[in-house]
Amino acid sequence: MLARPNSERLFSEAQSYFPGGVNSPVRAFRSVGGTPLFIERGEGCHIWDADGHRFLDFCGSWGPLILGHAHPAVVSAITEAAALGTSFGAPTRKENALAKLILDHHPFLDRIRFVSSGTEAVMSAIRLARGATGRNRILKFEGCYHGHVDSLLVQAGSGLVTFGTSSSAGVPPGVASDTLVVPLNNSEALDEALRLYAHELAAVIIEPVPANNGLLVQTPEFMHHLRAKCTEHGVLLIFDEVINGFRIGFTGAAGYYNIKADLFCYGKIIGGGLPVGMYGGRADLMAHIAPQGPVYQAGTLSGNPMAMAAGFAQLSQCLQPGFYENLNQATQTLCNRVNTYAQEKGYSLFMHRVASIFWLAFSGPSPVRSADAIDPQSMNRFRIFHADLLERGIYLGPSGYEVGFVSAAHTSEDLDWAAQAFCAAADKACV
Ligand code: PLP
Repeated sequence: MLARPNSERLFSEAQSYFPGGVNSPVRAFRSVGGTPLFIERGEGCHIWDADGHRFLDFCGSWGPLILGHAHPAVVSAITEAAALGTSFGAPTRKENALAKLILDHHPFLDRIRFVSSGTEAVMSAIRLARGATGRNRILKFEGCYHGHVDSLLVQAGSGLVTFGTSSSAGVPPGVASDTLVVPLNNSEALDEALRLYAHELAAVIIEPVPANNGLLVQTPEFMHHLRAKCTEHGVLLIFDEVINGFRIGFTGAAGYYNIKADLFCYGKIIGGGLPVGMYGGRADLMAHIAPQGPVYQAGTLSGNPMAMAAGFAQLSQCLQPGFYENLNQATQTLCNRVNTYAQEKGYSLFMHRVASIFWLAFSGPSPVRSADAIDPQSMNRFRIFHADLLERGIYLGPSGYEVGFVSAAHTSEDLDWAAQAFCAAADKACV
């Protein structure tokens, strides 16, 4: 095994500073075992750990880095902005510039507001939905993650339509029980939930391409049914596009399915790797937000100039002709190569893909559309696969439930090499 004395020492030191030694739980490598790598720097599609090893990176900071690490346009935008002052707590023209760039190219959004994380975007959109409708309850889908918002840290009970029980200590049962939980891609369960509870529901929230618990691609029929049913019952539909947005295409999952939700949440890519979130949607709904309306939402660092500049630089690249086509094609080639090999060998391994998001499932090729269709035992294979790839110099997010991301910095040579490494790791994990 590659020696990682520096990462080990740093992790051991970090235990005395942070709970579990980390500032976000998945980073602790508990799902795959071993010591997390401490990352020293990144450039393009590569990262280097504190022991000087280089890795081809498919985590991409969990999605934001669609151009790869330290893209020159993003770095110079940040440094130029920083030199002019890092924060003012007053409006700047950079907020206008990023907002115009987004709204000019995203017909599903009328008005937006910048915040500082995906969680904050979701939390604000939920408050807005409640404030605008005067109703309290929310419906979410089992297997979708929406950040660490109290009312969404809930899991389903046993039954098709249940009120949530909290999935984290510290979430009051009264808060969890305001959230109804139903399985994904199940029109019957959705219809039943709306029939019984629509009059109490402010909103239905979904990751339109759920990508936090495997890649649970929903059928277009289900997604259009969801839109129609929410309209029929007068319940707002919120698309949480924190991963999907500007990744599946500039217009994200809304464009992919051609569905206009009432409200949308974003994060990750729009900040170019700096902390940003954004929510937005229908102008009449956004008019409820303070100071225009009575729903309060604010932020000291909202619309931060460095983050706005980084986001503008990154999204400008994404708008170049052919950007998404090339990225998606490259990802498809990678997945096809691995899937063909696995099929020839008779391995239970399939790389599911939407655009440049992939998920390595240690099960057959049929689409996995709901959380309960994932076999927890398959995670043992992922552990072997992940460890083997680290030895070969490839970094995947340290959990088999997480997806991987290809960036525009991954060249066809990098992806060729990665395909070979994935096949070799499959030889280890699938026997
Ligand atoms: N919503 C979705 C779909 C996410 O994937 C995430 C984070 O991964 C969030 C919300 C929360 O975003 P953040 O981690 O920026 O708070």
